[in-house]
Amino acid sequence: VDMSALQKLVESLSEATTTVLDHHAALENRLSESSREVNRLRKHLDQVRMEAMTDALTNLANRKSFDEALDTHCESDDVSSPLSLAVIDIDHFKRFNDTWGHQTGDQVLRYVASVLARIGRPPRMAARYGGEEFGLLFPGETSAQVERLLNEARQEIASRVLKRRSTNEDLGTVTISVGVAQRQYGEDSFDLLDRADKALYQSKNNGRNRVTVASLSSM
Ligand code: GH3
Ligand code: MG
Ligand code: MG
Repeated sequence: VDMSALQKLVESLSEATTTVLDHHAALENRLSESSREVNRLRKHLDQVRMEAMTDALTNLANRKSFDEALDTHCESDDVSSPLSLAVIDIDHFKRFNDTWGHQTGDQVLRYVASVLARIGRPPRMAARYGGEEFGLLFPGETSAQVERLLNEARQEIASRVLKRRSTNEDLGTVTISVGVAQRQYGEDSFDLLDRADKALYQSKNNGRNRVTVASLSSM
């Protein structure tokens, strides 16, 4: 037996093993780095998705997610589950802005939103529809129940004397006008919104700070 040849063979084998092991460790490192990156991106994507559905000022759902939810409800034709839709508009909101400035206006928006968020917990939904307008969805609830609830929210909002955060001055009270419509069988989201909107305008025309239930459309 050629001992030196055997020794060389053993040495080169052990070198090769070390190389394979090093290579394996490097691959493992890269793999766990990649999976950390995937997790990071996944979290980021969830965050971006959430932000795309949320109104930044009030943290309520935004119009996009409200419209999607409304369409989903209106596409299912389950007669056994009623749906009520409320549209809410702050009364004389422009006055707050004109008198106290935009930032205080924002504070008032957040206050109203916080009350609506409390009554709009799932399976209901509360959203900022735009400007000083909000929407609420009430799946599985009749308009009589919903009307009572909205009147409670309206009274709660109107009963609080607001304070300007920066200077502690009295802002007085804020009121809301509401229109609510119960979806009729087969009615699409456009027509339902339209009836709720018309009821809101009745609330405005009849003196504001009130809830009006939409009349049924002739279908
Ligand atoms: P009405 O009772 O008829 O609803 O009167 P209003 O003053 O509430 O209605 P109008 O539509 O005349 O004014 C709405 C105001 O809301 C005008 C706009 O400057 C203000 N507004 C819209 N979006 C925002 C916002 O994000 N922040 C603040 N501070 N104001 C906003
Ligand atoms: Mg408005
Ligand atoms: Mg308004």
